[in-house]
Amino acid sequence: MDNQKILPAAIDLPLNPKVLEEVILKAKDWALMHGVCMRSKTNFNTDSLQFAPFVLTPSLYPRKEFEKAVNLQTILNELIHKVAHDTEFLRDTLAGTIQVDEFTANLFKIYETVLAEGITQILTLGLLRSDYFNTTNNNILQVEFNTIASSFGGISSKFRLFHSYILNELGHNDKIKNLPENNALSGLCDAMVEAWNIIGNTKAAILFIIEDVTYNICDQRFHEFQIRENYPHVKVIRKTLTDVFNTGVLGSNKELIVDGIVCSVVYFRAGYEPGHYHSQNEWSSRLMIERSSAIKCPSIHYHLAGTKKVQQALAKKGILKRFLTDEEEITRVKEIFTGLYSLDKEEGGDQVVDMVLKNPEGYVMKPQREGGGNNIYGSDIPEALTTMSEEERSAYIVMDRIFPPISRSYMIRPGAQGAPTIVDLVSELGIFGAIIGTKEKILYNRQVGHMLRTKGSSANEGGVAAGMGALDSPYLF
Ligand code: ADP
Ligand code: MG
Ligand code: MG
Repeated sequence: MDNQKILPAAIDLPLNPKVLEEVILKAKDWALMHGVCMRSKTNFNTDSLQFAPFVLTPSLYPRKEFEKAVNLQTILNELIHKVAHDTEFLRDTLAGTIQVDEFTANLFKIYETVLAEGITQILTLGLLRSDYFNTTNNNILQVEFNTIASSFGGISSKFRLFHSYILNELGHNDKIKNLPENNALSGLCDAMVEAWNIIGNTKAAILFIIEDVTYNICDQRFHEFQIRENYPHVKVIRKTLTDVFNTGVLGSNKELIVDGIVCSVVYFRAGYEPGHYHSQNEWSSRLMIERSSAIKCPSIHYHLAGTKKVQQALAKKGILKRFLTDEEEITRVKEIFTGLYSLDKEEGGDQVVDMVLKNPEGYVMKPQREGGGNNIYGSDIPEALTTMSEEERSAYIVMDRIFPPISRSYMIRPGAQGAPTIVDLVSELGIFGAIIGTKEKILYNRQVGHMLRTKGSSANEGGVAAGMGALDSPYLF
């Protein structure tokens, strides 16, 4: 990564040590007072919150590429919606994966079960996030597409104000205009309420499916409070999959009733990783929810459409035509795909292994997981590949490693001691989308906002909730 391009900073750095110390104190308090916070991983049983890690000054992002991603979102929403409703494509694409990946196999079993029984609720709600790295020649490439628990829309919507405040404190009020508006929170919540309205049961609640311990509590509560403040008649309840097992039933018309409350929309903020299913009970809950007449965000087929294997299959030559008709749109989507490769033997997996072993630093290996911390990078790849059986390989895909341009700023983390230094950073942009529809018809399709998270340039991953990343704002230029 030696010859990576370095972006200029939004304002001149370094800051005078006294100015830096003062502005950091203000920044921390601003974050704490505005809910830019998470629960501590080590001390989550207390009544306190920590500010979320942040980058002190916003990172430069080319306006043209930002706008490209924004303008592409409704096309990507439509693409994933169509993929999710193409049973044959999902079956073919995931056939090898579910032989070896128990988690994806369990999801798929639920899908096959509801298909065989007949799907009760044909409408589905997608709250999606497409993630990108920019490259040194200013050309964004998609990192992945999230169809479940796409997070940080809530906090990110507040975060523009954070950087506006910091820029103003540092005497750069004139630069605030370069921070784009961000209405992700209202966009995501409006779509949930739209789904609730479509069902039309005024007594029903929106059910948030949560983890046993919610570290990213503020982001989730922002969604809940946004709904309660703007649509006070729409109830929100929060339950784990275990709670749903213990207190949930299906009514006579397959309505989902949890703890005595009918839930017409289910918003999953958990259920995307094996650790959320402690036993068969949680899998039973997932199936019960899927069987219900509630609109799910996501439905099981949407969850499956968000797998890395599907992302890789979509990058194969000629596949996009199956889902999109407009040639110009197909070209625009193709432009954001980087090299994605199957490790299945029948799809040339052996050649891919040879290619990767020759230059492991150029690739990332990804299993069918979400939430960060699951990928294999660079020098760890050869050992992983050589110790895996051919079948086990099918659980992964390979992707070209993207090397984004570097920006420089101060990264502030809770509990860090001493004055921070300027560090090399890279940023991942996420664009949020919302979509509601059936296999035949899309009723609602919007781009609703963005997030930027930034990590040290040498870190492999930069999830904010997972630990290495920090919240940031794009500073357009
Ligand atoms: P998850 O669903 O777990 O978030 P991702 O595909 O987003 O999986 O990978 C997690 C992180 O790994 C990303 O946020 C990014 O920092 C890094 N990463 C993923 N793909 C690439 C890639 N092709 N090049 C460089 N870094 C990547
Ligand atoms: Mg993901
Ligand atoms: Mg990701």
